[in-house]
Amino acid sequence: MPLHIVRHPLVEDVLAALRDKATPCDVFRQLARRVSLLLAVEATRDLALHDAWVETPLERASVKRLGSRVVAVPVLRAGLGMLDAFLELVPSAEVGYFGLERNEQTAVARRYYEKVPKDLAGALVFLLDPMLATGGSAAMALDGLRGLGAKQVRLLSIVCAPEGVAHLEQAAPDTLIFTAALDRILNDKKYILPGLGDFGDRLFGT
Ligand code: URA
Repeated sequence: MPLHIVRHPLVEDVLAALRDKATPCDVFRQLARRVSLLLAVEATRDLALHDAWVETPLERASVKRLGSRVVAVPVLRAGLGMLDAFLELVPSAEVGYFGLERNEQTAVARRYYEKVPKDLAGALVFLLDPMLATGGSAAMALDGLRGLGAKQVRLLSIVCAPEGVAHLEQAAPDTLIFTAALDRILNDKKYILPGLGDFGDRLFGT
């Protein structure tokens, strides 16, 4: 499965601050947005364009405009921390939501909400899920997207665990993953090490 680790000094620096437990919630939000912008730039690098014309103040100019139908699907609730950044880059994107909750004891995901644009066959879908841990919730969301006809899906995860990547390699081998870091391992509570803790809790201050 193609795993793109986005290597950039700005990514490293943001990641360092996101990992730091002393980073307060308001700063964490800004950093999550910043790293999401950097991931989204990479993940949209090959979006289809079509030719068009505009009138500049001086003359007619040949230009390129975005041609793809783009759908962004944040996984609630942590994925909300990535949505604004994505929409800033692709304001025309449609947005869907998957509400997935992992059981604290078993770490198994349960879907409690789904509102996603229908008929995704021709769309390029970006699943926003900041922590790819066991891969259980991402696999569930990818399965749901496939059920809605999605053929091209890219997963944007800020931090990945090798276990999650291996899971998706089996469950959704044609999904491209864009991440800022491939971390070491999951702990016995299925948190990523070294990771950055519970993304949703740090984002929302819970
Ligand atoms: N979800 C998180 O927010 N953090 C982890 O480390 C794993 C899953």
